[in-house]
Amino acid sequence: MAYYQHILETIGHTPLVKLNRVTAELPCTVLAKVEFFNPGHSIKDRMAVKMIEDAEKAGLLKPGGTIIEGTSGNTGMGLAMAAIVKGYKCIFTITDKQSKEKIDILKALGAEVIVCPTNVEPDDPRSYYSVAKRLAKEIPNSIYIDQYNNLSNRQAHYETTGPEIWEQTEGKITHLVVGAGTGGTITGTGMFLKEKNPNIQVWAIDTYGSLLKKYHDTGEIDMNEVYPYITEGIGEDFVPANYDMSVIDHFEKVTDKDGAIMARRITKEEGIFVGYSAGSAVAGLLQLKDRLKPEHLVVVIFHDHGSRYVGKIYNDQWMLERGFLHVKTVKDMLNARV
Ligand code: PMP
Repeated sequence: MAYYQHILETIGHTPLVKLNRVTAELPCTVLAKVEFFNPGHSIKDRMAVKMIEDAEKAGLLKPGGTIIEGTSGNTGMGLAMAAIVKGYKCIFTITDKQSKEKIDILKALGAEVIVCPTNVEPDDPRSYYSVAKRLAKEIPNSIYIDQYNNLSNRQAHYETTGPEIWEQTEGKITHLVVGAGTGGTITGTGMFLKEKNPNIQVWAIDTYGSLLKKYHDTGEIDMNEVYPYITEGIGEDFVPANYDMSVIDHFEKVTDKDGAIMARRITKEEGIFVGYSAGSAVAGLLQLKDRLKPEHLVVVIFHDHGSRYVGKIYNDQWMLERGFLHVKTVKDMLNARV
């Protein structure tokens, strides 16, 4: 009989899939590491389990304990799933701009969700960040897991994502392209690959409205770089501890529009139903076309599944309202309605 002892054993060992159409203008082969094959539908399952297991080993989390995090997204999903299997409670603090659907998903997985106001400074006691920290102090046997500064995040990718890519490409990978948020994926995966072959180029994809690229390029924390943006999962308004900028050779910024349009193209042209940041990653790679040669082998990480974005980038009305659809597409849609 072949079966897993529990769902967490199915995390990782995701497939590498060749992109055949959206990268046709590039001279080299591009392979996507499709992370929505993880049981929580994102790469974040890997680090969620690692953060919990490291907290257990350090004696910070004991049986029946409570895991607290400020998240509405993929990390919450991974943590909630792991908490069920391991017998912990989960409390997530999220901002009131998040959709009801996201809250319902976390609740379906048994988590308690506390909604906090969006328009307050991070150090305001009402912010989702402050509430999470306060709860961790008040609730006995609880831990604030803090994916941004918890180095188990990047370690998960050093131990799993990096070695998988090295083995799957038989050491032939020349470029790694990764949408960067907490920095865990790019730093952990990049560190492992560069230890194997220091010539591998590690390219990070950032958004407009994030300070990461400027910080990488100049070492300056420039708050003028920071403004609201629509892309989800990548870009930051501070530099999380998971970054080691020396691992990253280049940072490329991609607009909200280009990321959204490319995600839709990957879905329609490759049949891979991806999330927003996968679109940003491929759009960023195409912007760097001039650096690529026929002998290169690029691996790009697809962080999550498109089902989370059906009301957003996969909704034509949403795209139209943000000016993300081309005029031609709009005309086609109007014609189709007549
Ligand atoms: N894409 C998506 C969809 C994500 O949820 C995240 C996590 N914030 C990222 C990209 C970036 O990954 P990391 O936080 O490891 O840098």
